[in-house]
Amino acid sequence: MSGWYSTAGPELPLVSQTGDAACDCLVIGGGWMGLHAARRYAELNPDASVVLVDAERIGNNASGRCMGFVIDLAHNPRKQDFVEDIKGNKEELYVNLDGIAYIRSAVEEHGVDCDWDPQGKYHSAATAHGVEDLRRFSEALDKLGQSYSWVETAEIQAITGSKHYIKALHHPGTILVQPAKYLKNAARRLPKNVTVHENTPIVAVRFGTPKHVCETPTGTIRTSKVIICASGYLTKFGFFENRAIPLYTFASMTRQLTEIELSQVGNKQAYGLIPANSFGTTVRRTVDNRLFLRNVYSYATDFKTTERDVMKARVQQQIAFDRRWPELSSIGFEASWGGLLTLAQNGGMVFGELDRNVYGAAFCNGTGVARGAAFGKAVAELAAGRSSPVIDILKTRASPSKPYPKTVTAIGVRMVTAYRFKQAGAEV
Ligand SMILES: Cc1cc2nc3c(=O)[nH]c(=O)nc-3n(C[C@H](O)[C@H](O)[C@H](O)COP(=O)(O)OP(=O)(O)OC[C@H]3O[C@@H](n4cnc5c(N)ncnc54)[C@H](O)[C@@H]3O)c2cc1C
Repeated sequence: MSGWYSTAGPELPLVSQTGDAACDCLVIGGGWMGLHAARRYAELNPDASVVLVDAERIGNNASGRCMGFVIDLAHNPRKQDFVEDIKGNKEELYVNLDGIAYIRSAVEEHGVDCDWDPQGKYHSAATAHGVEDLRRFSEALDKLGQSYSWVETAEIQAITGSKHYIKALHHPGTILVQPAKYLKNAARRLPKNVTVHENTPIVAVRFGTPKHVCETPTGTIRTSKVIICASGYLTKFGFFENRAIPLYTFASMTRQLTEIELSQVGNKQAYGLIPANSFGTTVRRTVDNRLFLRNVYSYATDFKTTERDVMKARVQQQIAFDRRWPELSSIGFEASWGGLLTLAQNGGMVFGELDRNVYGAAFCNGTGVARGAAFGKAVAELAAGRSSPVIDILKTRASPSKPYPKTVTAIGVRMVTAYRFKQAGAEV
């Protein structure tokens, strides 16, 4: 269980699906994509019955295990065309802003508690090559007409209480949230025509008309429409088979710090730091006074990771912690966990009608909070026969391409991630 999940308040009342049931629209997967797809479809069709199923607990999935940056503009300064691809970046921004607005409406209109904090994010550098990455990122922001500000050494060290950082770039627009809290509470606030079943994997499907028949371990759901938001598991439903590149990334969270400890981790009550190098360490200081670090990517055979991998990554998180706050090293971590990221070789994502009355949104390609909400909302609108500028943009996006054979991809990913991790040096 993730530290976010266990500190996110009471669990949802667990109701697994049993027996034979029918609905107008079944949404599979309760992450950022599926939750917002269910909400949107139900809002647009108040007389329709919508069922949202998740194989596990909502909030304890990758969506609830993430760092909680609701990112307006995902950055990748090392990507060759990041600076040049102005049209792509503008569209990305447009889509993500739609996702953020939808999440914000859940908070402001439906009272979803999630420690919402619109303070933006600090892209932080600890090395000269990190500063160079930030400079390239700032060029891209200039071209996009985005505002940002430089944070010099004394200020970033005062914010974090860490001598590790030498420079940062503050970019407004990103929201910080407690992701598991959002997902649990948003599931509670779904429209009345949505029924939620957790611990309910769809284990087999017969697509057809007038109804698709979806089997769960203890029952059947017949549905006119199905929206699959099951991340890489979408491929198990017969679409984009073998096109997912499954990666895990890992995180560790401390216990709540004491007053004395807090005085050593900076003068800002909560913050989020994105590493200048994408293989560096992401850091959050949480609203409830914990430090939380993410690093390490590993190839996940058949979408799974192991306890051993989590513990190996925890060692790297402790090293990263010690670099930043050596005097607090003995605190250790209260919880460590991993979460699934689904990538495609060409950066493509799944969006659209996959078969008759079968819709899908999946493959987050690394950052899927704002984007996931936008994809989920848009795919529900598509399923409801609507059109929108976001749908138009997403329809033009590349679908996931076929990667190299699995063993080649696995070896390639392992080698590249190990090399990039080493190259990131003290940014980790
Ligand atoms: C440690 C970590 C930190 C991250 N930090 C950030 C961040 O700060 N910002 C950001 O934008 N992104 C971040 N990400 C990425 C982000 O978490 C993902 O992009 C996002 O959660 C993907 O959402 P999703 O809804 O597509 O998938 P998921 O959250 O994986 O949801 C898919 C759901 O489908 C369910 N499912 C699968 N198969 C079935 C089935 N057969 N039947 C029923 N249910 C099924 C699964 O149980 C799961 O709950 C991070 C990821 C990790 C792991």
